[in-house]
Amino acid sequence: MSAQAVRVRFAPSPTGPLHMGGVRTALYNYLFARKHQGSFVLRIEDTDQTRYVPGAEEYIQEALSWCGIAPDEGPQKGGDYGPYRQSERKHLYRQYADQLVEAGYAYYAFDTSEELEEMRSMAKKAGTPNWQYNHVTRGRMKNSLTLAASDTEKRINDGDPYVIRIKLPRNEEVKFYDIVRGWVRVNTNNMDDKVLFKGDGMPTYHLANIVDDHLMGITHVIRGEEWLPSAPLHIMLYRYLGWEESRPSMAHLPLLLKPDGNGKLSKRDGDRLGFPVFPLEWKTPANDEVFSGYREQGYLPEAFLNMLAFLGWNPGTEQEIFSKQELIDAFSLEKVNKAGARYDHDKTRWFNQQYLRQQPLPVLADQLRQEAQSQGYDLTEQKAQQMTELLLDRAVFPSDLLKEGQFLLEPPETYDEKTTRKKWNSQARQHIENLRERFAQLDAFEASLLEERFKTYLQEQETGFGKVGPGLRLALTGKGMGPSLFAIMAILGKPETLARLDKALEKLPAHG
Ligand code: GLU
Repeated sequence: MSAQAVRVRFAPSPTGPLHMGGVRTALYNYLFARKHQGSFVLRIEDTDQTRYVPGAEEYIQEALSWCGIAPDEGPQKGGDYGPYRQSERKHLYRQYADQLVEAGYAYYAFDTSEELEEMRSMAKKAGTPNWQYNHVTRGRMKNSLTLAASDTEKRINDGDPYVIRIKLPRNEEVKFYDIVRGWVRVNTNNMDDKVLFKGDGMPTYHLANIVDDHLMGITHVIRGEEWLPSAPLHIMLYRYLGWEESRPSMAHLPLLLKPDGNGKLSKRDGDRLGFPVFPLEWKTPANDEVFSGYREQGYLPEAFLNMLAFLGWNPGTEQEIFSKQELIDAFSLEKVNKAGARYDHDKTRWFNQQYLRQQPLPVLADQLRQEAQSQGYDLTEQKAQQMTELLLDRAVFPSDLLKEGQFLLEPPETYDEKTTRKKWNSQARQHIENLRERFAQLDAFEASLLEERFKTYLQEQETGFGKVGPGLRLALTGKGMGPSLFAIMAILGKPETLARLDKALEKLPAHG
C-alpha cells in the first residue's frame, strides 16, 4: 500500500433502523480506520427517495455514538468532503453519466416499464426465467444503440422518459482481489446493463456510490457480502470513468446468520427468538411497531461492541475480552472470516456479564439504590454496596441486582414448597431455634463472625452443613438456593434476621 492516508466509509441507506449487521460493518470500518490512523466517514445514501424512512438517519447516528464509533466526517460532523448526504450531492452525478455516454460506455434507454415487463414475460414463456437487459437483448430494445441518433435526440428533447444504462462488453472477464475472499472472477456475459441514472434525475446506488467513493478519496470499501454481486459492475465503472488507478481496495464481510437453522439474520428473527436485532429500540413510524434494542435491554455498549467484533473476526488467540483500543490494535481485514457468522445470544449475555463485573462497585451500588428507591425501598449506601458485592456474580444486567436481591428487601411471604418438603423437619426446626438463640447473643452481625459461630455450632452438634444450611436459608429467604447465608444475614442485620427466623418458626410446618 502506498503512503496514502486510509479513508473508509460506512454508507447506509436511511430505509429503517440500523440492523446489528450494519453496526458490525461500521465497526470494522472504524477499527480499520483507527488502526491505520485514517478517517472513518459516514455517508447517507438516500438516492432512492421512495424508500426513505423518517428518523432513520438520526437513528444511525445515535446508534454509532452509543457504540462509541461515531464518524470522523459525516452529515452531522461535517468535513472536507461534504455534503455527506447523497440527496445533497444530486448536482454532482449527472456529469459522470454524461461522460460515460459520450465515451460509449453507457447509453440512453427509453423502454417503458410495460415494455420491459413484456420482454420478461415472453422470455419466461420461452424458458428463460431471468431475463436481463444485456449485450444480447439490448439489440432488440428501444435505446440509443438501436435507434437512429436523430430519433434519440428528438426523444430527449421532447422530454421522453429515459434512463442511462452501462454498456457492458460481451464475454470479458472482470477480475478483482477481495481482501476477505481472495480473487473474484465474473464474466460479463453473466452481468446485466444496470441502470446508472434514473428518469427522476437521480443516480442509482451504483453510480452515486462509485462517484462518491472516488470524490471522497475512499481507499478501502469494507461492506457486507450482499454487495459482492454488485462489485464487478463497480469495477467496470471505475475502469470506464478512468479511475482504475485510484480504485479502493475491496473487502466483503461475511453475513450474520440466524442462531437457529440457516440464512441471514433478519429483523424479524430477534423478537421471534427473544433477543434484539437492533442496537437501539426502534418504533416504525408508519405503524408504531416496536423492535427491541440492546441499549434499552440494559446491555453495555462496550460489551455489545466486543461481541459484534467477534461476529466474523477473531484475533487467533484465546483472548475474548477486548477493550476498544485492544480491538483496534488486534484488528486486521486478513483475519476476517469468509464463512457466515452465527449469532449466539448466550454469548452476548456472557459478554455483558463480563463487562458488568468490570464496572466500579460504587457506580453499580448507586444504580441499585436509585432503582430500589424508585420501587419504594430505602437502601443505605452500605447496604447497596453489600448487596452489589453479593449479587454481582449472578447478574447479567444492572437491573438484575434488584431482581436477584428482592429477597433482601422484603421477608418471604411463602416458602419454597420442595425445600420445605425435603429439608424442613423437626430436627431442622430445632437447629433454627438453637441458632436463633446464639445469633441473638451477638453484638456485631458480620459475615465472618456469623460463619464462625455457625461452624462451631455444626461441630458441637456433630452434624454437617447439609442438615442445617437449607433450613436456615429457607427460613431467611423462603428459597432453596441463593448466595452466601452469612453475607445475607450480615446485610439483613440482627433485628431483621431474628424476625425472619421467628416468622419462619411460626409459619413453617411444625413437623416435617
Ligand atoms: N447504501 C448501501 C447500503 O445500504 C451501501 C453499500 C456499500 O457500502 O457500498 O448498504
